[in-house]
Amino acid sequence: MTPQMPQTQSPARPAKVPYKRIATEEAFATQDMLDIYNKIFASGTADAGFQGLMGFYMSSPSERAQHIMRCLVDLDQLRIQHMDESGIDVAILALTSPGVQVMDPATAVSVAINSNDQLAEAIRRHPTRFAGMITVAPQDPAAAAKEIERGVTKLGMNSVVINSHTQGEYLSDPKFWDIFAAAEAHDAPIYLHPNALPPQMLQPFQECGLDGAIYGFGVETGLHAMRIITAGVFDRFPKLRMILGHMGEALPYWAYRLDYMHQATVRSKRYDSMKPIQKRPSEYLCENFYITNSGVAWEHAIKFAQGFMGVDRVLYAMDYPYQYAVDEVNILDNMNMSLEDKTKFFQTNAETVFKL
Ligand code: CA
Repeated sequence: MTPQMPQTQSPARPAKVPYKRIATEEAFATQDMLDIYNKIFASGTADAGFQGLMGFYMSSPSERAQHIMRCLVDLDQLRIQHMDESGIDVAILALTSPGVQVMDPATAVSVAINSNDQLAEAIRRHPTRFAGMITVAPQDPAAAAKEIERGVTKLGMNSVVINSHTQGEYLSDPKFWDIFAAAEAHDAPIYLHPNALPPQMLQPFQECGLDGAIYGFGVETGLHAMRIITAGVFDRFPKLRMILGHMGEALPYWAYRLDYMHQATVRSKRYDSMKPIQKRPSEYLCENFYITNSGVAWEHAIKFAQGFMGVDRVLYAMDYPYQYAVDEVNILDNMNMSLEDKTKFFQTNAETVFKL
């Protein structure tokens, strides 16, 4: 059955339902961060992926781009109006991709601190409507670990967002593992959110327009998650929890082949980089990961993931403002699913994972 597409013209306001709708992958930007992006663009040092993503949104006169920029920087009236119109009770906010990960290390560390302070302030203004994820600068893993501690103990945030690769580098590299140690120690799940593709991956996607959220983001973020799994991160940090958006970036659908070919590749000793790990890739996916349906309002895919990972591991997300589609909420409310499972999907899984 092909997906039902949302109505574009004035969809009905979502009905009152017996569960709270908690949207778990909702983006914001600070003006301070955008000012630094503008400096990077002006210096001519932005890589092509970043230029193609935020360079587009920040300069395009198109209605979509202008609307997204207006929504991203609003942490008050407009955002709450859109949440009310789409029936979202609580939004879990994360600094929009690529966050601070395109900056030099010192700037990235200070913009991360500043963004977390601004987010904490917005949550204080709207404590029943907003929760937030801690932004970190992977460029400086020790500072990132400290910021996770500050975010949890001082700012009251219980999760971390990392926008996939950092200037072409992946968290599978042990030099980043102080970040995992801090996240595990503070029981703060890391939301691995997409980033624009790194230069070494961009061309075959960009030349046909498939580099963005349509496909490239999912491929690159799924790759990142697989690198983390196969590097043995969860053997070293067994209590570490991670979250993937966009239906787990399709990894649940790949699980059988990932397990089979991982075992075959390890046995054949084909790559020095692929060492034995304690469990099958699918077991880490089911035991260390949660996924959200951000950008995918499709009952078949959601039910498949619930069947694979369990109903406690699949959460609702809207992906505001990039995919602000009110009718998707109606589609999801009307899924053929028990009220108990729907309540887990929309509300209680998020309350548990993000400690709301
Ligand atoms: Ca997103």
